[in-house]
Amino acid sequence: MSEIQQFDLIVIGGGPAGYPCAIRAAQLGMQALCIDAWVNRDGSPSFGGTCLNAGCIPSKALLESSELYHRAQHEFEVHGISAGKIGLDLAKMQARKQAVSKANSGGVKLLFSANKVTGLHGHGRLLGDGKIGYKSLDGKDEKIFAAKHIVIATGSAPVELKKIAPFDGQHIVDSWGALDFTAVPERLGVIGAGVIGVELGSVWSRLGADTVLLEALTEFLPMVDRQVTKEALRQFTKQGLDIRLGAKVVAARTGKKGVEVEYEQGGSKQSESFDKLIVAVGRRPYTDALGCEAAGVALDPRGFVKVDSDYLTNVPGIYAIGDVVATGPMLAHKGIEEGVVLAERLAGEKSKVDYRAVPSVIYTSPEIAWVGLSEEQAVAAGHEVKTGSSPFAANGRARAMEATAGLIKFISDAKTDRVLGVHMIGPYVSELAAEAVLAMGYGATTADIQLTMHAHPTLSETFHEASLAVDGHAIHSVNKKKKPA
Ligand code: FAD
Ligand code: AMP
Repeated sequence: MSEIQQFDLIVIGGGPAGYPCAIRAAQLGMQALCIDAWVNRDGSPSFGGTCLNAGCIPSKALLESSELYHRAQHEFEVHGISAGKIGLDLAKMQARKQAVSKANSGGVKLLFSANKVTGLHGHGRLLGDGKIGYKSLDGKDEKIFAAKHIVIATGSAPVELKKIAPFDGQHIVDSWGALDFTAVPERLGVIGAGVIGVELGSVWSRLGADTVLLEALTEFLPMVDRQVTKEALRQFTKQGLDIRLGAKVVAARTGKKGVEVEYEQGGSKQSESFDKLIVAVGRRPYTDALGCEAAGVALDPRGFVKVDSDYLTNVPGIYAIGDVVATGPMLAHKGIEEGVVLAERLAGEKSKVDYRAVPSVIYTSPEIAWVGLSEEQAVAAGHEVKTGSSPFAANGRARAMEATAGLIKFISDAKTDRVLGVHMIGPYVSELAAEAVLAMGYGATTADIQLTMHAHPTLSETFHEASLAVDGHAIHSVNKKKKPA
């Protein structure tokens, strides 16, 4: 084994938390190394982690393609466009998705080289005493590196229901498997109607699968405002998604034809058969073979790496960020922010992540997005709440787009007028969420937004209208009389 090479900072994991941390550290003058173990199904190593290779990006590529297919079939006519019979070339759609992922992960490589980050494909292991053991993917090259700062950014992995519905890679698959189907299943089952379940269910339903989502909770998307989820359930059901709430899957048996699923709903046992079953019941922090125990890094009972508000673990010099820590939601942009902020704090800057304004998005059609508290959460937290909402049906641009389903709702503090949350469903609300993040980041009051001009005709006018509706003076939608909360 050659001599130990020294860096200022070593990141283990090259996903959205790890690679920006390494890049920002290098920009701030540190010698940074990022080690990443991701290998795609075709055997190619690839930076970008779950997000670029098996998560955000490939799912959004398929959501875009399947949405276009759906719109061509169902919406062209209303615009006066006749396109003949719309066909589906799934192999081509999948190849495009792969190309999109590849282009993004190739971008990370370019950024490493432009910022003078050393990027290595391979496995990293904590050895303690500021050292990292590196093993190349083919196992032929082994090295030891040392650094003053070591960052764990090893991300997360899908939760498996080992006793109920173990993955077999063919009939029972995780989210990665569900992104790679080579044929549209005739009947598709999805366990879990959370963010990933609803997005993947939408993709295959739009492409023609008869799709059933089985969700153990009786409430749909409990983290989102009730007014928004009520509309979401109505829209998704109209599109043909069969969402069964209070349906707890208790067993799944695979046979030659597919999979037989047993679930309990309303006190009785039910069963369904599917060609494919996607298990989308959440993700777990991933620290397998990382050497946490050997290095003395403490995990919490759910397996997350324990950190303080500086992302420092219980071991001096070892930090953790992204999905592998329990702070904030498991989202790519949360990881990016943590990566950048950690590098800046290590360089002596006073950066901080604002966890009050983390946007969340579900990329269905219509999209769902939220920032901050729902009305239910705000009331439970003891706020005296005032709310206002405006429907996209009252928006000229949305009408021109044939996308009038949905609404934007403001949840504000009745005493201070501060915006506590904005929850939305509708066209491109993923983009409109940025306005709420900015407003809440600056501590905006509802009046601040009411006094801001929005271009006409844009979807953002509904954002403005919803803020006006909080105080009962919306112009383009009817103000509802509300009882005080
Ligand atoms: P990861 O992206 O999981 O990266 C960790 C990396 O570390 C991996 O490459 C892994 O191979 C590597 N690694 C692990 N152990 C080692 C080791 N010992 N040595 C070397 N390398 C190691 N989030 C959003 O914000 N928006 C979305 O639209 C979205 N869509 C999603 C859709 C799906 C289907 C899924 C599954 C997830 C989605 N997410 C989305 C979540 C998002 O992908 C994660 O929050 C994000 O990838 C977490 O980033 P991370 O860097 O913490 O971890
Ligand atoms: P998320 O955490 O957003 O990915 O959502 C996962 C969803 O899966 C949650 O809403 C869980 O209630 C649901 N879930 C977990 N186990 C089961 C099960 N056995 N049957 C049905 N739904 C489940």
